[in-house]
Amino acid sequence: MLDAEFFRRWMTATAASVDREAERLTALDSPIGDADHGSNLQRGFTAVMAALEKDAPATPGAVLTLAGRQLISTVGGASGPLYGTLLRRTGKALGDAVEVSEEQLAEALRTGVDAVMTLGGAAPGDKTMIDALVPAVDALGDSFAAARSAAEQGAEATIPLQARKGRASYLGERSIGHQDPGATSAALLIAGLAEAADE
Ligand code: ADP
Ligand code: MG
Ligand code: MG
Repeated sequence: MLDAEFFRRWMTATAASVDREAERLTALDSPIGDADHGSNLQRGFTAVMAALEKDAPATPGAVLTLAGRQLISTVGGASGPLYGTLLRRTGKALGDAVEVSEEQLAEALRTGVDAVMTLGGAAPGDKTMIDALVPAVDALGDSFAAARSAAEQGAEATIPLQARKGRASYLGERSIGHQDPGATSAALLIAGLAEAADE
């Protein structure tokens, strides 16, 4: 069973990898965006960590809803409301249970990813974070490690795609040949989950 401490570790591992990879995320957002994805997420996850330290939420659901709220209120870019919705809706789906099973997490995360698709209107293949998140959720029934690989493969698979949502879509065919920054950060989020499970 997964408790609030597991979810705190998930957010901590993600914040650390976002810090580590911020320059790379911003560099990916340079040819097909406005070169701010790394700094956007760094600001967001710094706020998430500060809020978690201050409030110490007692349930998995409360950890994720608090984190989601922080992302929505501190990240200016498109990714803030989208990641914020992902975590808030996933947290809401977990309810107020003190511990949740891996199956419950997989189901809740599916609800969260669906909410991101509804909010942003993106489907798989549109060259967004969805291209990493959907395969990750599909693989989560197997293991955290399988979800991590699926997300990484999904992010790499955005390279030949033409963007149909977000800023990159303004480039039309010129968006082809570049890895999507949001799919790349989504793979970091899922890798954080696998890291939390390994500890
Ligand atoms: P902005 O484009 O506002 O500067 P970011 O650079 O932080 O925001 O985030 C860009 C990422 O957000 C993209 O790489 C893409 O993965 C994701 N994104 C943008 N629009 C959408 C959308 N409608 N649905 C899903 N993901 C999206
Ligand atoms: Mg950007
Ligand atoms: Mg921006």
